[in-house]
Amino acid sequence: MSENYEQSYLYRLRHSAAHLMAQAVTELYPGAKLSIGPPIENGFYYDIDFPTPLKEEDLPKIEQKMKELAKLDQRINRIEVSREEAKNLILDEKVPGMGSDVAEYKLQLLDAISEGETISFYDQQRTDRDGTLHRFLDLCRGPHVDTTKEIKNFKLMNLAGAYWRGDVKNKQLTRIYGTAFETPEELQNYLTMLEEAKKRDHRILGRELGLFMFSPRVGTGLPLWLPKGATLRETMTQFLRDEQVKRGYEPVITPHIASIKLYEKSGHIITFKDKLFPFMEDEEKETYILKPMNCPFHIEIYQSQMRSYRDLPVRYAEFGTVHRYEQSGEVTGILRARGFTQDDAHLFVRPDQLLEEFIGVVDLMKVVLNKLGLKDFRARLGTKDPASAKYIGHDDNWKAATDAIEAACKQMDMDYFVSPGDAAFYGPKLDLIIKDALGRDWQMGTVQVDYNLPERFELEYIGEDSKPHRPIMIHRAPFGSMERMIGLLTEQYAGAFPFWLSPVQVAILPIADRHIQAAYEVAEALRGPGHKHPEAAPEFPHFPSDALEAAGAGNKFRLHIDDRRETLGKKIRENQMQKVPYMLVIGDRDIENGTVGVRSREEGDLGAMSLAEVIKKLQAEL
Ligand SMILES: [Zn+2]
Ligand SMILES: [Zn+2]
Repeated sequence: MSENYEQSYLYRLRHSAAHLMAQAVTELYPGAKLSIGPPIENGFYYDIDFPTPLKEEDLPKIEQKMKELAKLDQRINRIEVSREEAKNLILDEKVPGMGSDVAEYKLQLLDAISEGETISFYDQQRTDRDGTLHRFLDLCRGPHVDTTKEIKNFKLMNLAGAYWRGDVKNKQLTRIYGTAFETPEELQNYLTMLEEAKKRDHRILGRELGLFMFSPRVGTGLPLWLPKGATLRETMTQFLRDEQVKRGYEPVITPHIASIKLYEKSGHIITFKDKLFPFMEDEEKETYILKPMNCPFHIEIYQSQMRSYRDLPVRYAEFGTVHRYEQSGEVTGILRARGFTQDDAHLFVRPDQLLEEFIGVVDLMKVVLNKLGLKDFRARLGTKDPASAKYIGHDDNWKAATDAIEAACKQMDMDYFVSPGDAAFYGPKLDLIIKDALGRDWQMGTVQVDYNLPERFELEYIGEDSKPHRPIMIHRAPFGSMERMIGLLTEQYAGAFPFWLSPVQVAILPIADRHIQAAYEVAEALRGPGHKHPEAAPEFPHFPSDALEAAGAGNKFRLHIDDRRETLGKKIRENQMQKVPYMLVIGDRDIENGTVGVRSREEGDLGAMSLAEVIKKLQAEL
């Protein structure tokens, strides 16, 4: 949530909608105990302890009541009171939603307000025709809109369980989520976006497209990559690997577990405490942990030999699989998994190389995002919060690193904004924020400057002055992780990946059994020799050899031959569902003429084309 949002009218509107909902609930469900109801990123919620469980089907009724109450034009007034008065108000049986039997959470909230802080209520009032005064009061810091009449465009979304104060030892309350907007159009757009997002959900598409799966026998958050998903992932890996080789990175490979001593030295045993899987102990009582991050391994490699200033920068890259113990409630498909692979690298640089290396990293990130077709991105430069004491390292270093990042962004024309307080505790960082096709923000790749680990491991290089100096480390992962990036791409493209990434680029569809022989010959022209052919059936006609020769050699398209005994219509439909970019249909006439019937995912039915023409078109797509 940006600071701007918290000061916006929309934020006040949503907060007011939360109060309105609470008011509706107290009128409909006497005995319901209110706790807290803040605005959040896309709406608001209220946590309520209901006397009998609430169901999703009850939401329209609450929504209806909210509409009635909103129209009454209740003034929303702020009142400031003493602690004593506040307590009396909360316990006042005459005020709806108040009284000793429902005061439990509000009293605790009152207690949590520290001495000297202003205690305020927001008071929604209306007077009936007969002159009766109705009030709804809520202990709240505010701010709010002026009248409930302003709350017009809202919707209650869903229910969830939420422990009081987020503590599993406490009672579980019912959280009602809702959203509100200034205009009906904005509300409608948001709801449409959610519908669209549901269709694009990578967990559903991942299964439908055969990319990855989960199995309870394997465990929560541990994806199994299926052939198509693994092919897609390999394609991305190979692309980045090639780019890294061009930029002087060297590959390294490190183990999945390590002695706890390594992580004691790095400090991760403390900073990563909550994310570690249970430890393992061997017969010699040596303790091992499952790798949560790759950095300390790369440091060990750096440290394995004497380094001179001329050896730097050293750039070690690894597609390193790590495991982190995410809470099961937080695991979300492959976006937040317990096992995932970072496109990780660590650069060990001299202080005078920091700017240039940072430019290199920013350039690589831009190349990567462009190649993936992610055009709408910004970078967030996380800097130190001057008021906080959690950061380590000298101010001079912080300034040099922050300046280098900023200069690199400027020089590389990277759209960025500065976010004080978003630095890591050991140095400033740059995070990529990608806006997807539905306008949602995703935090993806990251670059971090680190003075801490070189210090902890006492890393050195021998300078021109023959004295030891300390290098600086840059951690970077342009994708973030393979899993997260593939999750994003799946939702961004709704499974219709760009041609170069598509796990199956071409589907070959023989119309009948007698076209199978020719289909395999066309397949060979598209992906090269060495693949399995069907059972020899001498009566099946061959594709014309001159057409095959004209196709040329050396093509390596990824394809699938759909030789099932199904109707052509069914095969076309199913390959469409699989979002295959090109289908090549082969029938009698094609075999006579050396053509294929081309259906493009984007352009539709293109009719018969010669094999050579089709291959030219496919090559152009790359
Ligand atoms: Zn409030
Ligand atoms: Zn690292």
